[in-house]
Amino acid sequence: MAAGRTPSVLLRCLRRVHTRSALVPSSVLLGAGAAAGGAALAEWRELNAPRELAAERTLPDSRAGSLLAAVRLPMLLDEGEIEEVLELGREVKAAGGATEYRLGSSAHSVVRSADAGSDPASASSSSPWHTTFLHTGHLFQQRLPALSLKLRQAVLSTDGLNWGICRKAAASLSGSNVAGEPLDEVRMRTIELHEVGPGGALPQRDHVDSGSCVTLDVMLCRPGVDFEGGALELPPAIDVAKPGVFPEFLQGDALVFPSHKFHCVHPVSSGLRRVLVIEFWCGEDRSCPHRCHQHYGTCKAAGGGSRWQDQVHRLCMASAVEDPVKPW
Ligand SMILES: [Zn+2]
Repeated sequence: MAAGRTPSVLLRCLRRVHTRSALVPSSVLLGAGAAAGGAALAEWRELNAPRELAAERTLPDSRAGSLLAAVRLPMLLDEGEIEEVLELGREVKAAGGATEYRLGSSAHSVVRSADAGSDPASASSSSPWHTTFLHTGHLFQQRLPALSLKLRQAVLSTDGLNWGICRKAAASLSGSNVAGEPLDEVRMRTIELHEVGPGGALPQRDHVDSGSCVTLDVMLCRPGVDFEGGALELPPAIDVAKPGVFPEFLQGDALVFPSHKFHCVHPVSSGLRRVLVIEFWCGEDRSCPHRCHQHYGTCKAAGGGSRWQDQVHRLCMASAVEDPVKPW
């Protein structure tokens, strides 16, 4: 475990910030418009539209993105780093932290236990796909700072050598030339631990990580040993119905690809497939407990995000007293 906050403080914080409103998926919140904070989010978007749009204006569309080849970084993470990620995931889940469940194998049937008012343990056990948001409260960056830096550098370096998506997006945001544009505005939108059991899949062959620049996947377990099936496929841009590329993806390996490149995951047939997924975008390091759609400012998702952040802020101040070694 990395040095820093003690588990007991982490668990206490997460238990206290775990509210029902904070657990509603952003996709539901943003799509329905019926959620409590819908008006606030709409107002915020209107006020901030130019900057939000600038952050996505230069991103390749899915056809262009799918023509770009993914890059494999063999053994980017060692066993110790993998265990650090898994340990953080266990702590977040044990504390009732932000987790999203996918029921069945449909990419669209995403629900989370708390917003349905159901028992989390029941929903968890019946779902083959769990996503745990490790960036909640900036936990990943604060608990694993060296690893965060290493992953960011790996992604920016790979993008710079191959596609230049991040630099173009940053230049669009600042209104300056692409050449020499700093990458300070490129940060982590979402850090997710995907744990997928039998039947779990991401079957949508035209799935993309919309709005992000570059996506990083890291395999945390041993394909063929810890799980069977679950192959990551990168369908072709020209005809998504045709077979795509199945890149080698072994334990510790990273795959870096444009976020708007088609990707899907075949059903897991047995065992548990565990992968770390990080999306980089031009925007803030988000701390809200979902895959956020808002690049800047306090999350307005249903009002729950802002309330949640207020709670985190108060906890930070309290924790600073309790844990002066590494206050939030
Ligand atoms: Zn958010």
